[in-house]
Amino acid sequence: MSISTLEQAEAYVLHLKRSDNWVSDAAMLQNLQESQTFIENNKRADLLPHLGIHFALYYIDNGEYQQSWKYTEIAKENALLYANNAKLLEAISLQIRIQRYLGNLEAAQKLVHEQIEIAYRINDYLQIASAYQNQTLLLHKQHLKEDCIEAGRKAIEYIQKSKMDYYIANFKIGFSGILLDFNETSIAFEQLNQGFNIAKKNKFKLPLALAYSNYGTYYQLVGNEKKCIDAYKKCIALFHQINNTTDEMTAKIMLADAYEYFNKISEAEQTLKETIAFSEQNGIKYNLIGIYETLSKLQEKKGNYIDALANYKKLNQIKEEYLNNETKNKLQKLETNMKLDVLKIEKENAEKMASVKHDFLANMSHEIRTPINSILGICYLLEQQTLNEIQHNYIQRLKRSGENLLGIINDVLDISKIESGKMELTNDLFSLDDLINDIFNALEPKAKDKEIQFKIINRFKKKKQLLGDKIRLYQILLNIVSNAIKFTNEGSVTLLTDCKETDEHHSQITFTIKDTGIGITKNKIDKIFERYEQADATIKDKFGGTGLGLSISKKIVQLMNGTIDIKSKLNKGTEFIISIPMKNAVQMNEVATDDIMITPELLNNKLILIADDNLENRLVAKEILLNFNKTIKVIEANDGNEVINLLFKKIPDIIFMDLDMPNLNGIETTQQIRKNKKYHTIKIIGNTASLSSFTKEEFHEIGFDAFIYKPYKPKDLYRLLVTLLTK
Ligand code: ADP
Repeated sequence: MSISTLEQAEAYVLHLKRSDNWVSDAAMLQNLQESQTFIENNKRADLLPHLGIHFALYYIDNGEYQQSWKYTEIAKENALLYANNAKLLEAISLQIRIQRYLGNLEAAQKLVHEQIEIAYRINDYLQIASAYQNQTLLLHKQHLKEDCIEAGRKAIEYIQKSKMDYYIANFKIGFSGILLDFNETSIAFEQLNQGFNIAKKNKFKLPLALAYSNYGTYYQLVGNEKKCIDAYKKCIALFHQINNTTDEMTAKIMLADAYEYFNKISEAEQTLKETIAFSEQNGIKYNLIGIYETLSKLQEKKGNYIDALANYKKLNQIKEEYLNNETKNKLQKLETNMKLDVLKIEKENAEKMASVKHDFLANMSHEIRTPINSILGICYLLEQQTLNEIQHNYIQRLKRSGENLLGIINDVLDISKIESGKMELTNDLFSLDDLINDIFNALEPKAKDKEIQFKIINRFKKKKQLLGDKIRLYQILLNIVSNAIKFTNEGSVTLLTDCKETDEHHSQITFTIKDTGIGITKNKIDKIFERYEQADATIKDKFGGTGLGLSISKKIVQLMNGTIDIKSKLNKGTEFIISIPMKNAVQMNEVATDDIMITPELLNNKLILIADDNLENRLVAKEILLNFNKTIKVIEANDGNEVINLLFKKIPDIIFMDLDMPNLNGIETTQQIRKNKKYHTIKIIGNTASLSSFTKEEFHEIGFDAFIYKPYKPKDLYRLLVTLLTK
């Protein structure tokens, strides 16, 4: 084949792949040179990264590192110019290889650093894996076993994600070689077999050759002479077949070493002889080290101490050039810096991923909450009808399923909020008595159903007022006490609360939740705080649940600077102890209270505007309102513009405003309404099925009088309306 047009040149450099039949011979050099002429004459610099890399590989294979380096520079420069990240990384990878071959580890380390950074930035699995592989090789050279194995595992982890068989085989085989060097024979053998099988199935010759070389090492280590020699011979034959002389020579040196190891002196000498000229001519230091080391050992075995010493001296000289102590020290320093940087990049990456995940979940939650709002609203409306027992039972079950689904969504969202660092705590004024009462009222019916006792013991001053996130506190207690009831079939559940002032401004609350239930085995006790963990597989079948509750509770307690401890005995019972510091409330007069007088007449003839783009939600809200009071008049709007238009005709008493409407959303609409003094009597209740990141104060600032999340309980909406109208 010869290249005679630009098109041919382009096709050649774009499609030439380093695969098994890739031969770095004169024909290839000629093709590359011809391509180069067309590419340069036509100023197709975008092809130079491809061309540069092929040249560089060709010269590496031929041991001409300086030439090779020159082409990696050309590839890099033009890859940068054309923002071709893949080629840029390939060029850097080759430069690392060259520096490593030449023994310039410090330069190689710097390049690895550059490579990891770019690979993470473009988030490409193959590139991240290959950056970690280079890191592994360098750490291997420095004999930093643990770090090296860790980097190797990372490389394997990412290469598996890439799903590219050729590279998976290559990486696994490469990693097995390193593991063998660290004497980790069994994991090495496992990785090697896995890599070998993939290579064999796909007939990948280069990986197969490398695999045979590692089998040689493995069998030498375990003392199987026949299999060892056989493997090396297969390896040499394969390298020869694909014209990879450099690696063929390295494999021969390894075979010679194996012969020496098994005391086959003349075979060893003969094999070595075949490698010396090539390695010396090309200045391949790592080959020369192997050669002189084995030669020295051979002479020693033969009793030729003078020759042994001469070879030994040569060996030391090269070794010194290869890795002197000074370089080693510098490298270790570089290494620490780099590790920190990589950690930083990984952390940032994880955070970015968590944030993306969180946004996705937040959107999903909106989509799911909107229909649940409707389902639960209709359940409420049906409950108000005269129903027979069967119908009543169906509604209860439907309601419970809806609430369970909502609970799961909330849990998943909480987890993702925590992971992405978006969980924020509020500082509400609340009464400890009310908190405990709420828990009692919510869970006592469940205890009653199971015929177990639910005892409350309070060891704090009555009317204790605190500042903290009462909703989250309620969530934690609800989770742990309902677990206690769930996992107790007879006896009792006790919630003991203590609150001690630690100083004038602070108190320490302790909740002890004790049950006489099924208990948890010792080995499972630490696990149950992990996500999706349940004490055993039968729990899910018997009790349901997702295994998220405790993990969320623990995280929230930690965010509150508190602790959560557990003691448990199988079949005897479990005790959770939660201890949290809280601020004492100062405004004693602003008592938080939930008691609202039932005054339905307050709603008589009120005009309420429901603004929501979801028809189903509008219908449910309307019917719930009419259910509160039949004289209520409801008007509806589909988006913010419709709201503004309606206001020209009628001024409602209340607007029930969804935030996420098209055209003009709820926030924009509210802001516009608040600009007009004429509308100051209107009470606006904001509502959303999304996760809102606004605080109470921020909602007020926008112009809302109150806020409620969908799905809301009709009871809560009723309370809100009454509170607003009495103000
Ligand atoms: P879920 O209750 O949804 O399964 P949790 O995270 O709340 O998830 O609890 C995790 C697991 O801890 C439960 O599945 C159960 O195996 C165990 N567990 C929690 N509380 C108790 C308890 N009071 N008694 C026995 N086992 C418990």
